[in-house]
Amino acid sequence: MIHEILPVGPLQCNCSILGDETSREAIVVDPGDDIPKIVSLLQRHQLKVKYIVITHAHIDHIAGAHKLKQLTGAPILYNQNDLLLVKMMDIQASWLGMPTPEVAPPDALLTDGQTIAVDGISGSIIHTPGHTQGSVCLYIPEESLLLAGDTLFAGSVGRTDLPGGDHHQLISSIQSKLMALPDQTIVVPGHGAKTDIGTEREVNPFL
Ligand SMILES: [Zn+2]
Repeated sequence: MIHEILPVGPLQCNCSILGDETSREAIVVDPGDDIPKIVSLLQRHQLKVKYIVITHAHIDHIAGAHKLKQLTGAPILYNQNDLLLVKMMDIQASWLGMPTPEVAPPDALLTDGQTIAVDGISGSIIHTPGHTQGSVCLYIPEESLLLAGDTLFAGSVGRTDLPGGDHHQLISSIQSKLMALPDQTIVVPGHGAKTDIGTEREVNPFL
């Protein structure tokens, strides 16, 4: 599998491009900004985007999704519990002092246990509320890979002081759903360095 991780925008959100070498079909996760860079990476790998997956509707993860959809025709998917955050996009933009991006309603909703598959890549959605109520992770068992959004970080966990955040719920989501994954599962968080489930199980001070 092709996996490009591109930190985008002022908050350096980790956008992931997952592509299959044979079918050239791709999934883009969290295209928060820098859409021209994402599109040129897609072109370099000759990938066709089939899904745009949003781990949660914070502005740094979702702001470029509409533009990427316009350029690729791919549908935008996120959990319905983050619709409230989408309606507050102007407030989110004011937190960062940036103009309000155009953000579209989802073309389809993501739910816990749902399969997201393109030809050659199959993942499942894990609903992990806490950072936001609609936060999800994308787990690709064949690659031992978890795209964790802002739920779990290397040595840390997502902040819960923004609207919809709940620290106890976040820890419970991580303990019950993410710590159930195998130790060798590589974790790509929404920001910063990669880690793995075994390391976080051992050293993460929040768990
Ligand atoms: Zn976030």
